[in-house]
Amino acid sequence: MILILNSNVSEQSPEYRQLMSHLATLPGIQTRVHVERGIEKTLTEIYLIGNTQSLEIEDMQSLPCVERAVRVSEEYRILGRHKDDQRPTHFEYNGVRFGQDTLNVFAGLCAVDNREHVEIMMKAVHDCGQVCTRMGAYKPRTSPYAFQGHGKYCLPYVFELAGKYGIKVIAMEITHESHLNEIREALHATGNPTGVMLQIGTRNTQNFELLKIVGRQTEMPILLKRGFGITLDESLNAAEYLASEGNRNVVFGLRGMKTNMGDPHRNFVDFSHVPVVKRLTRMPVCIDPSHSVGSRQAAPDGILDMMHVTAQGIVAGANMVLVDFHPAPPKALVDGPQAMLLKELPYFLEDVQIARDAYLKRVELRKQQV
Ligand code: PEP
Ligand code: MN
Repeated sequence: MILILNSNVSEQSPEYRQLMSHLATLPGIQTRVHVERGIEKTLTEIYLIGNTQSLEIEDMQSLPCVERAVRVSEEYRILGRHKDDQRPTHFEYNGVRFGQDTLNVFAGLCAVDNREHVEIMMKAVHDCGQVCTRMGAYKPRTSPYAFQGHGKYCLPYVFELAGKYGIKVIAMEITHESHLNEIREALHATGNPTGVMLQIGTRNTQNFELLKIVGRQTEMPILLKRGFGITLDESLNAAEYLASEGNRNVVFGLRGMKTNMGDPHRNFVDFSHVPVVKRLTRMPVCIDPSHSVGSRQAAPDGILDMMHVTAQGIVAGANMVLVDFHPAPPKALVDGPQAMLLKELPYFLEDVQIARDAYLKRVELRKQQV
């Protein structure tokens, strides 16, 4: 059960103390307090852990400071969407809102190769009015002999250029806890010109120790990619690991499943799960058309498969698109064959808008039915 307290409750107030001492008397119940400090208000939630079956919602709601009590199902306690749960389905980071009602496009480099390409990419993103991008610095590769990313050495120029082009959020995968500090230090050294959304890649979805460490920091939000060969439930539990350690600013990323049933696509596209994740949890949902399709094949209508699946995900309510672009794909050190061309960026964004408008119209149409 979650007790949602009146906003701006002070931990020093007599009512709060009274509440906590009452909760301490409940047999077999432990409490975990979560405080979310926003710009305007501070929200406090108390998680009651243990056998809460015998507790009555009405009784708990009549306790001092308690605004609402929500009975949670066992699954995804923090990130889950529970019955009568009106907790927010969005968060804000570096001035950008991420929610189940928004759409942000992160077009950028799969892997940072050199400063020139980063600058060309960021300028293109900026010229299209976008404030988010993707920049891979730490690349988990199948072969130990393949390029592993420039790591911390590229961070200073990536962040500095992001500042120059007004980029507010960069999605960047990390594969080891040491990368957290490298990112923090580079951000600090460059004067915090941008923000980073830490990406947990599909190969690390169930790297629980990494999840715990990344979840323990709350300054940067997290994009958790679905595991490529595990169930949706297992991947949602992985997201819950992050939240249970303290960071609930988590976006859930669909990127396709590894099975040859998806051939000729690189992975079996799973964007039909967009509404499922939004129903089961309060997380915004990201789709990655690049890593799921993995090629620039086009349908007879001339539209790339990657763009068709992007539209499918957005028409179903996706909230974020993570997509590979490159100024010179043949020269890209990672995933060149699936990169979209820079000249295609305005076209891609226009196509995204068509799908988004269609989704919003579908929501309106549904509202008229009730
Ligand atoms: C990526 O986005 O660069 C990536 C490696 O994705 P995934 O973890 O989904 O394979
Ligand atoms: Mn890639």
